[in-house]
Amino acid sequence: MSLTAVGSIAFDSVRTPFGERERMLGGSAVHFALAASFFTEVRVVGPVGADFGDEQLAVLTEQKIAVDDIERIDDGQTFFWRGHYDHDMNVAHTDETELNVFAAFEPKLSAAACEAETLFLGNIQPDLQRDVRRQSSAGFVALDSMNLWIETARESLLAAIADVDCLLLNDAELRMLTEQPNLVTAARAAMALGPSVVVAKRGEYGAMLFTEKGPFAIPGLPLEEVRDPTGAGDSFAGGFLGYLDAVRVDGKHDERALRRAMAYGSVMASFNVEDFGTERVAGLSQDEVAERLAAFKALTHFHE
Ligand code: AMP
Repeated sequence: MSLTAVGSIAFDSVRTPFGERERMLGGSAVHFALAASFFTEVRVVGPVGADFGDEQLAVLTEQKIAVDDIERIDDGQTFFWRGHYDHDMNVAHTDETELNVFAAFEPKLSAAACEAETLFLGNIQPDLQRDVRRQSSAGFVALDSMNLWIETARESLLAAIADVDCLLLNDAELRMLTEQPNLVTAARAAMALGPSVVVAKRGEYGAMLFTEKGPFAIPGLPLEEVRDPTGAGDSFAGGFLGYLDAVRVDGKHDERALRRAMAYGSVMASFNVEDFGTERVAGLSQDEVAERLAAFKALTHFHE
C-alpha cells in the first residue's frame, strides 16, 4: 500500500466569520496528505519556493509523509491563495491566486512516486495532472478539480478525467462540468467521461458516491463549531483514498470498501473544519479518528 499525491502546496490567507489567518500552510496536496496519512504511506509531489521553510515541511514529516518529491525552487515563491467565506461556509470566495512556482513546474516523479499503487491528482492545472498521470503506474487513480479549471482549461480537464478511475468534485462543480442541473444525471454524465466512481462533495451536507451499483450518501457531522472549511474537500479525499489504498485487494474496490471509505472521508473533513488551516488534522490521534467513525455510525444508523 502506498499513495502518491500531486496538488498545490500553498500558503493560504483566509477570512471566515470566526477569524482570519495570514499565510497558513495549505494547498490541496497538503490537506489531502495529512488526512490520508492516518491510513497509509503517503508521498507528496510538487514545488515550493524559497519562502517555504523547515517549519512547514515538519508538519508533513511529523505525520511520516514522504517529502523527497517536494522540489524547492530557490528563486521562486510558493503557490498562494487568498479567500474568504461569508455566512454560508459551503461557498469559498477566491480573492487572489498566485501560481508562482507552479507556473513553470515540470513534474519528474521519483521511482517510488511512480510505483505507488494509488494516485491522487489533487486540484491544480489539469495539464500538470495529466503529466503526472502519464508517469504513474498506479492501479487506482482519482482526480479533484475546481471551477477555475472548468472555466479556463476545460478541454485539458476533460482529457485528464478520461484517464482516471475516480472523479471527486463539489456538487456545484459537477453540475458545471457536465452542464446538468440535476446531481444524479450530472454524476451519470461524469461517469460517461471515463471514471467508474464519482464522488459529489456537498460541504456541510456530506457527500454522495455514484458507481454502477447506484448512489450512496453520507452526511456531514452536525458540528456546533465550524471555524474554517478550507481544505475540507481535500481532507475528505484524503480519508477516502487513504482508506481505499490501505484495504485494496487485487486492484479492485468493492462497494463495501467504497462506502466505508466515504465514511472515513467525512470523518477527516469533519475534523478539518473545526480549526483554521491544518491545525486540527495535523494534531489528531488515531483514537479520535476511531471515535468519530463511531459517531458517524450512530448518526446514520436506524432500525427498519
Ligand atoms: P478545498 O479542499 O476545496 O477547500 O481546497 C482548499 C485548498 O485549495 C486551499 O488550501 C488552497 O491553497 C487550494 N487552492 C485554491 N485554489 C487553487 C487552485 N486554483 N489550484 C490549486 N489549489 C488551489
